[in-house]
Amino acid sequence: MSLIVQKFGGSSVADAESIKRVARRIVETKQAGHDVVVVVSAMGDTTDELLDLAEQVSPNPPGRELDMLLTSGERISMALLAMAIADLGADARSYTGSQAGLITDSAHGAARIIDVTPGRIQEALAEGAIPIVAGFQGVAQDTKDITTLGRGGSDTTAVALAAALDASVCEIYTDVDGVFSADPRVVAKARQVPVITYEEMLELAAVGAKVLHLRCVEYARRFDLPIHVRSSFSHREGTLVLSPAAIAAKIAEGSVMEHPIISGVAADVNDAKVTVVGVPDKPGEAAAIFKALAGAGINVDMIVQNVSAASTGRTDVTFTCPQGSAKAAMSALEAERATIGFESLLLDDQIAKVSLVGAGMRSHPGVSATFFTALADAGINVEMISTSEIRISVVTRVDEAKRAVQALHTAFGLDADGEAVVYAGSGR
Ligand code: ADP
Ligand code: ASP
Ligand code: MG
Repeated sequence: MSLIVQKFGGSSVADAESIKRVARRIVETKQAGHDVVVVVSAMGDTTDELLDLAEQVSPNPPGRELDMLLTSGERISMALLAMAIADLGADARSYTGSQAGLITDSAHGAARIIDVTPGRIQEALAEGAIPIVAGFQGVAQDTKDITTLGRGGSDTTAVALAAALDASVCEIYTDVDGVFSADPRVVAKARQVPVITYEEMLELAAVGAKVLHLRCVEYARRFDLPIHVRSSFSHREGTLVLSPAAIAAKIAEGSVMEHPIISGVAADVNDAKVTVVGVPDKPGEAAAIFKALAGAGINVDMIVQNVSAASTGRTDVTFTCPQGSAKAAMSALEAERATIGFESLLLDDQIAKVSLVGAGMRSHPGVSATFFTALADAGINVEMISTSEIRISVVTRVDEAKRAVQALHTAFGLDADGEAVVYAGSGR
């Protein structure tokens, strides 16, 4: 008998009927002889609705109170799901993140899990019950306040619990059949990927493929825990996120065909671009700029410095950061204008980052040539470029992102014959 952690996303529990359908699926797993621990998200778009409500009450709510508000969404779904399972004759018990032992730091809205002490979950399992845990939340070790893990954080609750309970697999149930070569809402011919490495999935999640929360993939990699992303609306096999060794073993036994060179294409429209104009071209200038940004807690992503114009001895430095922190970045730099000595600042939030990810890039020449030719043929201008060993990213105009993703998808031969199914969800 193995222990399986099953996580159901918001679109899988959007209404009463869906909750009953999910309850049946959980009970089937239990009846098949497995121990099951369930992690559940808030119903449908509840979290967005609570955020909208908070905004109407206060333009800048205290983090502690916002977290208290947002965690109520998962408390609703966990209790309803436990009721629905009880109706099917099984023993289900709901637990908040705090009760389930999800201990975090105190960074409200983006808390990190620092320990998992699932004593009550283990007791419930020992008594034959099905524990239902509220995703996305925990309790801060120092302040004892309720925290949230960041948008999409229920995935991370599930993987952290699976690791702490030594589960055989963490199943992430969502509204599409697995991880695809692009967001099926953007590319109709997106192809389902049967297996993907932790490393590739990390890159995809980091550049905008929101199907898995970035930290859940980091966690799974650290504990070498298999993740199975699949739909709660079908019984199809989904996508396995595994180590390269585990994938090689699957290929050797013949259950998986070759691992593709390119895993997928993604776009992120949540970044902004800041240009520091007329920076004196001398040692220490970049250090001063990025020290000011670090001091303001800004996460900088891409960075480009132009060749300086010989006549002026000045250059421009451009970087991207999350749109939410662009204003803070501008103020932090403005405050240091005299010491850094730049001429002006430009802010542009009409940008997108479009990325191609694949472990095969390491050993296959010509990927960059195909990438830039596809964008050129589509008439899309590239504003910035950055690469990792297994990723190429470019900045484009935001209104060209969708076309860029589609062009790259086709150029790399990723288009499937049929159309991908999106079962539910608003895509919000
Ligand atoms: P849940 O509510 O179940 O957590 P999410 O909305 O967080 O679901 O994630 C599922 C969604 O992720 C899909 O509906 C899809 O639109 C989006 N998505 C983005 N990129 C990808 C991708 N590469 N593969 C699959 N889904 C993706
Ligand atoms: N309900 C939270 C959100 O919408 C957490 C999650 O669904 O994973 O972000
Ligand atoms: Mg999600």
